[in-house]
Amino acid sequence: MGLGAIALMRKPRRPDAPGPPDGRRAAVPTRVGVRPGGVARRGSEALRLRLGMAEIRMCAPWKEIRKKDGAPAAPAGPCVVITQRGATRLKAGHVWVYRSDVVSAEGVAPGAVVGVADERGRGFGSALYSTSSQIAVRMISSGSVASFPELLRERVEQAIAYREPLVRRTDAYRVVFSEGDLLPGLIVDRYNDIVSLQILTQAMDAEPVRAALVAKLSERLQPAAIAERVDAHIRELEQLPAKESGLLQGEKTSTIFTMNGVRFHFDPREGQKTGAFLDQRENYAAAAEYARGEALDVFCYQGAFALHMAARGCKVTGVDSSRPALEIADKNALLDQHDVEWIEANAFDLLKDYSGAGRHYDTIVLDPPAFAKTKKNLETALRGYKELNLRALKMLRPGGTLVSCSCSYHVSEGGLLQVVAEAAQDAHRMLRLLEKRGQAKDHPVVLSIPETSYLKCLIFHVN
Ligand code: SAH
Repeated sequence: MGLGAIALMRKPRRPDAPGPPDGRRAAVPTRVGVRPGGVARRGSEALRLRLGMAEIRMCAPWKEIRKKDGAPAAPAGPCVVITQRGATRLKAGHVWVYRSDVVSAEGVAPGAVVGVADERGRGFGSALYSTSSQIAVRMISSGSVASFPELLRERVEQAIAYREPLVRRTDAYRVVFSEGDLLPGLIVDRYNDIVSLQILTQAMDAEPVRAALVAKLSERLQPAAIAERVDAHIRELEQLPAKESGLLQGEKTSTIFTMNGVRFHFDPREGQKTGAFLDQRENYAAAAEYARGEALDVFCYQGAFALHMAARGCKVTGVDSSRPALEIADKNALLDQHDVEWIEANAFDLLKDYSGAGRHYDTIVLDPPAFAKTKKNLETALRGYKELNLRALKMLRPGGTLVSCSCSYHVSEGGLLQVVAEAAQDAHRMLRLLEKRGQAKDHPVVLSIPETSYLKCLIFHVN
């Protein structure tokens, strides 16, 4: 079971949370001032700020600004004024406003909870503000927020309740999925008795927010340890001070978790993402339902598809360019005494060599990293997906199964289907679509936030 060395290519990561589509345009100035009918909106502090009429930082235009006695009815706080384009986006149920749609946010501190209003003074609620991200505003409520740590505790509670009826046959799942749980900038994953979290924005990094989060997770999930995974690049982009990954609570640094009856090692200090690709959890089980005979898991990472197929009696080979990932895959295989062959290789080279050498398989899984990080490299990405699928199809025996995944947000399900259809045509194979799948239900897709939907997993019968 040696790890044979072939050429390495690159090691891009799959994004944890969706990023902004590129190609934002500059803000278009919109008309200021009066509502239709010519009546100036009462108490529009946002508007006055814009017009420089007052040094007022209060922004609560969504409700009565002041009670009769003059006391503020909504909490005083900084205000961000947005363009009509930004407002239209929020009205459609999205929660982001790009920096190019921010008209004014003077003096707003990094990570502040802000009121959001358009230039006419119409309020949209409260948001978390970032002074550095292209996504300047992330909405958290349609009303005012007295205490963000308190709101965070409630949202974590709701996230746990949402998953209770949905998450099955696993002790590893995503507890909080950023925008998908109305907690933008926060990822929390549970791996049996260890919780691993990632903080992606200035607001979530604030000390009172961190303290409330750790206390809530500790109380509700009672883990042996809570670890933080730091992405140095994201902290740099958010202009947050550098920080090391490490334990926030407890001392336990490794555990074993079980998905669909298959066991895996977990060490919060190692690996990609917060440790594993939990978004594929339901797809592992689905793929294993069809898998048989000789199986090839391409881009296998720590062996999750491979081991699910081995548990169904397949003879499995797993391929990845990351040696550390394969070493854990090998340790994982030993947990249930599965005999899997792991190959350290550039998948493109290996598939070319193997298909050239006339090798054949009954089942092939393709789960590459996100090739299309931005819209700009979509074309190149599609070529990459096509090449992989074409080579896989050439190697599948009649009646075989192809599991073809993409975690690029910019590659739509239709786009991936088309690529596979083209590959099938070139390979002279007839494909029957067995399943169109997405990310596991603990990574909820919010209909009005398209970026929450990124993972595609297509399963085909190949003749
Ligand atoms: N199927 C895995 C997740 C794969 S993520 C699971 O469900 O757990 C993508 C993987 O592709 C990573 O492990 C990364 O190391 C690997 N990778 C990236 N580029 C590669 C290349 N050119 N050849 C082989 N592996 C590659």
